[in-house]
Amino acid sequence: MKPPHSLYGLSLDEISQALDLAKTYQAKQINEWLTKGVTDFSEMTNLSIADRERFAFLMGSACSSTVVERQRDRSGAAKLAIRLHDGAIIEAVLLTDERLRATACLSSQVGCAQGCTFCKTATMGFVRNLEAFEIVEQYIHLQNESSQAITHLVYMGMGEPLANTSEVIKSIHLFHDPTTWNIGLRRITISTCGLVGGIERLTEERVAVKLAISLVTADNRLRSRLMPVNKRFNIHELKDALIRHQQVSGKRVTIEYCLLGGVNTDEVNAYKLADWLSGLDALVNLIPWNRVEGLPYTTPTEAEIDRFARLLDRLAIAYTRRRSRGQAIDGACGQLAVPLNTLEYHLLTDDGE
Ligand code: SF4
Repeated sequence: MKPPHSLYGLSLDEISQALDLAKTYQAKQINEWLTKGVTDFSEMTNLSIADRERFAFLMGSACSSTVVERQRDRSGAAKLAIRLHDGAIIEAVLLTDERLRATACLSSQVGCAQGCTFCKTATMGFVRNLEAFEIVEQYIHLQNESSQAITHLVYMGMGEPLANTSEVIKSIHLFHDPTTWNIGLRRITISTCGLVGGIERLTEERVAVKLAISLVTADNRLRSRLMPVNKRFNIHELKDALIRHQQVSGKRVTIEYCLLGGVNTDEVNAYKLADWLSGLDALVNLIPWNRVEGLPYTTPTEAEIDRFARLLDRLAIAYTRRRSRGQAIDGACGQLAVPLNTLEYHLLTDDGE
């Protein structure tokens, strides 16, 4: 039997089968090492030397991917370039916020097919979906880089998670498993450009993670120009799906509002946003666009952002205004696009969880 690419994501029975284990307890021992991030069989010291050598001969490593580049910036953000078993490169980012929460930003696809006009990842097109084990391995690599435990996960790296819903849900179940990482669903966020079918599937399957929506504008026509997904699912369909999901999850939704200089920061956009938000429990996250070479946008000035924030104040819209972290390593929102400087992530909600 051909060995699997990775032991991550396998059940104990599957590990047992893959390695042709003589004793059932060995699968549990191996799984404990995997959970701790030990992927080199030679370091699994409670296995016999003969077994360790046999497993290494069979698979090489228990993990299918390798870190090929590490970057850190002064904010503490770290970005890893990770080579997958087929040679494709993705990136994953580790962020530490002012409360020292460590958050892993995970990619769900190699490239992205959604074509958002302000996004660097979009420029590389779609290559393939990641499998659940490849998503989990990003977390393992980031955890191995971090001096503190990763407590939060965001599916905001390269790709659109709800265009790869099955593998994303599978990975969420793996992270949430009490026998391994036991990460609470309230600490997991999926960021989507608004694929309504995927949101509905999360609702139907009662996957009560938090949602972050890359809205960018509540002007339907403008959104269709900026984000092709809006031609398939307009802002009204998107809002209906969010309300249904909120009824199941009971969680506040984050609205990511990427501020594009001179495009979506005027009074009309503020009023349309206020109108669209009515009936939703939402927090708007204002994220100034990060410059990406070759894309036809500008980062708004501080004065422009101040003016838009004052409009939101006047309209009683709940919002946060964050400085993007990770810019120095091109790990900020909209800046991911392997193999150059892959990664697009959005910032977290600040609701104390
Ligand atoms: S913003 Fe997200 S969904 Fe849109 S193209 Fe970029 S990676 Fe894809």
